[in-house]
Amino acid sequence: MNETIGNTGTKETEDNVPGLKFWESNKEEIKEVCRPFVSKFKEKGYDKVLSRLQNYDGVEPASNALYSILSDVLDIDPEMKYESSFEEKPRSSYSTNDNTVYIRTSIKDSNLNKNELALKTFNTISHEMFHAYQYKVANSNEERAELYKQEFYGYKTPETECKYGYASQFLEMEAMFFAYNIEMIISDAIKK
Ligand SMILES: [Zn+2]
Repeated sequence: MNETIGNTGTKETEDNVPGLKFWESNKEEIKEVCRPFVSKFKEKGYDKVLSRLQNYDGVEPASNALYSILSDVLDIDPEMKYESSFEEKPRSSYSTNDNTVYIRTSIKDSNLNKNELALKTFNTISHEMFHAYQYKVANSNEERAELYKQEFYGYKTPETECKYGYASQFLEMEAMFFAYNIEMIISDAIKK
């Protein structure tokens, strides 16, 4: 079993997007997996995330609120730890060993304004927490257990495989799609 499931946070140009082909062939399935949780997130509300973002200097109080809401929405109970790194693109991860989401921010992130940093962090938290959810399913009798189990065992990291192999996994595409939705919902609310 691989120890960590990471997030590279890389952005690619359109003609060269890792996982694009995989996404095109499987997007309906991926959307279907994520949809109930995205709806639940909207229903439950995220006022606490927004108010904390407004009332505190840093983004951590708002991030903690998001963590708590997502724990509820996904029905999981991982720990969450923040780590700052001197790397330009530190990898955040979900560790199956200690059921912990590690959110790694770069010192370079200080170039971002507060809302940009918040949205980036929210995306990362949502992504890694979705891996915690997938790991829970992998160890259950649910429909996707076998698929997730296989991918967790044969997990391709961006370091061991090319980025195309990494992105062409249900584990990654689902987590990316879920995180994208959560980020957009909050981003729209901030703009209002
Ligand atoms: Zn990931």
